[in-house]
Amino acid sequence: MRRRAPAREPRLPLRKEFAPYIRQLVRLMQINDWRVWLAADDPPGDPKAMAAIEMTYGRRSARIWLSEAFLRDSPEEQRHTIVHELAHIFFAASEEIARTEMPDGAYQSWRLMHEYGVDAVADALAPRSEALIKLPRPRSSDQARP
Ligand SMILES: [Zn+2]
Repeated sequence: MRRRAPAREPRLPLRKEFAPYIRQLVRLMQINDWRVWLAADDPPGDPKAMAAIEMTYGRRSARIWLSEAFLRDSPEEQRHTIVHELAHIFFAASEEIARTEMPDGAYQSWRLMHEYGVDAVADALAPRSEALIKLPRPRSSDQARP
């Protein structure tokens, strides 16, 4: 009797596999005067974060972290998450001023409202990017069957 092989979990993509996609989005969003690094081995410092970005405004340099939950997410959500993180670059100067100059309580309130605004930018940009670049990886239904 031949037994059917147990269904395999699809392989999770590696963080570094998103580096070319991030470079494409950087060009598309016209922020290619920034150097954007992907932390290939580490998740965000905040375990609840899907992803994170840290910017050094004066250096026009940013580092992005992707969580394991991000790696398990749909290609559409992954695109939205990356666009969200990159959209923070547009606000790097104001984020730096708010972070360094606002009292903690006011900064926390500002930060929450700011995240909603950045997310609205990602809501507007992410779906429109599909006409210009593909999703970061094919949907499972698009993959060739053996
Ligand atoms: Zn954010």
